[in-house]
Amino acid sequence: MTKTIIEPFKIKMVEPLHLTSETERKEILENAGYNLFLVKAQDILIDLLTDSGTSAMSSEQWAGMMRGDESYAGASSFYRFEEVIRSITGFRYIIPTHQGRAAERILFGTMNVKDKFVLNNTHFDTTRANIEYLGGTAVDIPVPEALVPSDESPFKGNMDVQKLKSFIQEKGEKEIALVMLTITNNSGGGQPVSMENIKEVSAVCKNSRIPLFIDACRFAENCYLIKEREHGYSSRSVKSIAQELFSYADGCTMSAKKDGLANIGGFLALNDDKLAQQEKNLLILTEGFPTYGGLAGRDLEAIAQGLEEALDEDYLNYRIASIRYLQKGFEKAGIPTVKPPGGHAVYIDSRAFLPHVPPEQFPGQALVCELYIQGGIRAVEVGALMFGKKDRRTGIEILPALDLVRLAVPRRVYTQSHIDYVIEIGEKVAKEKEKIQGLKLVYEAPFLRHFTARLLPI
Ligand SMILES: *Cc1c(COP(=O)(O)O)cnc(C)c1O
Repeated sequence: MTKTIIEPFKIKMVEPLHLTSETERKEILENAGYNLFLVKAQDILIDLLTDSGTSAMSSEQWAGMMRGDESYAGASSFYRFEEVIRSITGFRYIIPTHQGRAAERILFGTMNVKDKFVLNNTHFDTTRANIEYLGGTAVDIPVPEALVPSDESPFKGNMDVQKLKSFIQEKGEKEIALVMLTITNNSGGGQPVSMENIKEVSAVCKNSRIPLFIDACRFAENCYLIKEREHGYSSRSVKSIAQELFSYADGCTMSAKKDGLANIGGFLALNDDKLAQQEKNLLILTEGFPTYGGLAGRDLEAIAQGLEEALDEDYLNYRIASIRYLQKGFEKAGIPTVKPPGGHAVYIDSRAFLPHVPPEQFPGQALVCELYIQGGIRAVEVGALMFGKKDRRTGIEILPALDLVRLAVPRRVYTQSHIDYVIEIGEKVAKEKEKIQGLKLVYEAPFLRHFTARLLPI
């Protein structure tokens, strides 16, 4: 094996990047209320806002787009989609949806979550919102080390099995609609869940007759990290690891915008006949007929091909190596990150990096703004702005446990020199970090405020 891990693809089509000056960026940022969600993509140089729907498709995926069968019912593209997903997950029913959140809405709509609990290592925000919208309560029970950015444990995405057991004992199994495991744990730093943990959670759920569903958005990255880090899996294929993982669950939801390597799409998969029938009926109501579910035939082809490519181990080796490379570069520049790096993003611990900015003055968002001013880089704050809430009675901000900045790396989009550039900007920001000032909110919406908030430097 050579030392250099290369991008295992070559470039067939290019999209120009638009360079701006620091003066221009300062003005753009001011006009956008210091909120990068309100900046036009053409004014961004390196866009690390999200890895969702931003993948570059392969020539085989584009070929599939041309082959797409657009028949309303029974399209051949659906059967290919179904076959690929069944061969990976083993689930009997495969229900296409337009995104992951549609799969969530349909699943919770048939699982009687009203006045019940749903437990998860950490709920993704759309998952939590869909449960709460239906009158359920979403409870996160990650392992304690998940909340310690500097802790080097290999599987910080794990669920706290002891907490799961005591929660079931305390509330009674009938009060828990379902248990979910998010792999990798996106909101918890993109950290993987171990096979051992999945097995334990599955055994507890089976014992109490509580259904277990996998939020499978980044299953391929999670399975590759199992292969790298968990004893007994180093010589197994990533696909066989995925097959074993899904065998412990009753079903899964997935956003194909992540490890589906597609720009849109998702699915719900499960074994239960009655539930699947109810879900297909709900699907027809809002998404579409069960053989397309809100997607075009060409999208089903792109996803089927993308899922196979996401399990390619040369691709996964490059993918994980590129995340690790960015994380190492930042650490060398003295930027504290969540360790060890996960599968799709590097997370900066903003409170540790900017101790001079009070936690209530949005240190993460201040850092996001500085990365944009210095280098035209777009990252996203996952901290006080995204998850903080005003106490209704006292008006005091309740701050989340961590204040992070996420740099999510789109799949197969940027080259190593792009990442070298990001590291160089990180070094520059670190050298002059004392000059970074806090921010204050001047406008916030009543929910999901980070998307539209406007801020001003203090
Ligand atoms: C993106 C994501 C979702 C929701 O998927 P969408 O396609 O954006 O609706 C759910 N869970 C996790 C962990 C995600 O990352």
